[in-house]
Amino acid sequence: MTSILQCIDCKEQYPIDRVMYTCEACGGLLDVVHDMDYLRHTVSRELFDQRLGTLEPPYNSGVWRYKELIYPDVEARTIISRPEGNTNLYPVPRLAEWVGVKTLFLKHEGENPTGSFKDRGMTGGLTQARVLGMKRVACASTGNTSASLASYAALGGLEGVVFFQDKQIALGKLAQSVAYGATGIQVSADFDRNLELVREVATKLGIYVLNSVNPFRLEGQKSIIFEMIQQFRWKTPDWIVVPGGNLGNSSAFGKALSELYELKLIDRIPRVAIIQAEGANPLYRSFVKEFEEFEPMHAETLATAIKIGNPVNYAKAVRTIHLTDGMVEQVSDQEILDAKALIDRQGIGCEPASACSLVGTKKLVEKGIIKPHETVVGILTGHILKDPDVVLKYHSGTLADIKAAYPNKLHQSEPSADAIRNILENTGTQ
Ligand SMILES: *Cc1c(COP(=O)(O)O)cnc(C)c1O
Ligand SMILES: [Zn+2]
Repeated sequence: MTSILQCIDCKEQYPIDRVMYTCEACGGLLDVVHDMDYLRHTVSRELFDQRLGTLEPPYNSGVWRYKELIYPDVEARTIISRPEGNTNLYPVPRLAEWVGVKTLFLKHEGENPTGSFKDRGMTGGLTQARVLGMKRVACASTGNTSASLASYAALGGLEGVVFFQDKQIALGKLAQSVAYGATGIQVSADFDRNLELVREVATKLGIYVLNSVNPFRLEGQKSIIFEMIQQFRWKTPDWIVVPGGNLGNSSAFGKALSELYELKLIDRIPRVAIIQAEGANPLYRSFVKEFEEFEPMHAETLATAIKIGNPVNYAKAVRTIHLTDGMVEQVSDQEILDAKALIDRQGIGCEPASACSLVGTKKLVEKGIIKPHETVVGILTGHILKDPDVVLKYHSGTLADIKAAYPNKLHQSEPSADAIRNILENTGTQ
């Protein structure tokens, strides 16, 4: 029943305990491939339902509840888990109306222990680091990967090394990495260059790379789909809409759906829509040319979590689009921040990149691709407190090139009841 590593292009196979990220024969990305015949006789909806609400590790984790589908062979005591997952699926009728569908849910991955979905991948990646006997782990990051790596490395007693670009890192993320004790290195280069550097340094120094090129991270991230579908009592929505940066999440979604379908845990495959920022849209550009070419680009967007111009998981994301009859859409920073303000105002909140899911849905409804009667789940990838700077600048109208459609301006008052009454009488209930 042993799982193996397999190249997605030439199908060359490698043992699961090899330290490698891409195929030695052709350079292709690797999948962790499980023994599906074994799983067919082992997993069932009932098995996963029985584990709901358990206090027992590792099954109390929203990742390891599905251990057989994530890493069947790993010993429970090797697993490094906070635990993660078990995030809410919010019905949002007012936002459904805004985007133009009858039924919209938001699954909030910002509710993970370090505030982003990256924890679901990191528990898989750090666990594999321990299986391999690695002492140091590293990543390049737009922020959330580092925060998550730093936390899980500390928990597992490994040294975490995180590479950042030296500007435009959201404050909450940088603070987390420092606080959790990772060795932080600021490099005057963008994310894409930093990722190249990490891979180079890691090979030379024997450090384990935990960017999403690492297939064990994607195994953990599949659990977003498993958990969502279990929350729907094993029914599938029509659409799953997700922001796309390095395309790890969207890649994991395709693999998760194909495995659930193959194991007959679902009876149809939902469509996946990947939403990119206009200034960081290499997948979108390739999509409109039917994936005939792919060109890396220089990325610019206020949604820093998806400011990536050369997504490492491009080929796997294309596989997801083909498997699910999916779509790729792009949205502007203006649209992202206004949509974020609406999500925040529901009392839910998210970081800028996450709002792609909402406004991307609206665009696809306007184009007639998502139909009003279809059920949509948008993924909120990160927590509202990750990037407080953008929030305050948006609401005070001080972001360059952004005109806030839903500002909530702070009021200034003298310390007198009359002055305060004046303010409240002029604001009214909104
Ligand atoms: C990492 C991240 C993304 C992008 O996810 P990919 O898997 O790289 O496409 C989107 N939103 C947030 C908040 C993130 O942290
Ligand atoms: Zn290969």
